[in-house]
Amino acid sequence: MNCTQVQDLAAALIDHESLGPRELAEVEQHLATCSACRYEYEMDRWMSRIVRTRVPIVQTPPDTYLSILSAIEEG
Ligand SMILES: [Zn+2]
Repeated sequence: MNCTQVQDLAAALIDHESLGPRELAEVEQHLATCSACRYEYEMDRWMSRIVRTRVPIVQTPPDTYLSILSAIEEG
């Protein structure tokens, strides 16, 4: 499974689409070893959580958005 396939499946996972147990295992195994895909996955998951739990990001005042970003950079 290459990075593109993993990222496609990871996006499906974030959207709560069900994956087969074998696909899921392959995605998890790839994420454990590939920092690029893990980063994409974490970012997608974070974005989807923001979209679900907050007002749409386009309506977020820029100051708020920037403070969220800097909070994340600071860990
Ligand atoms: Zn990868």
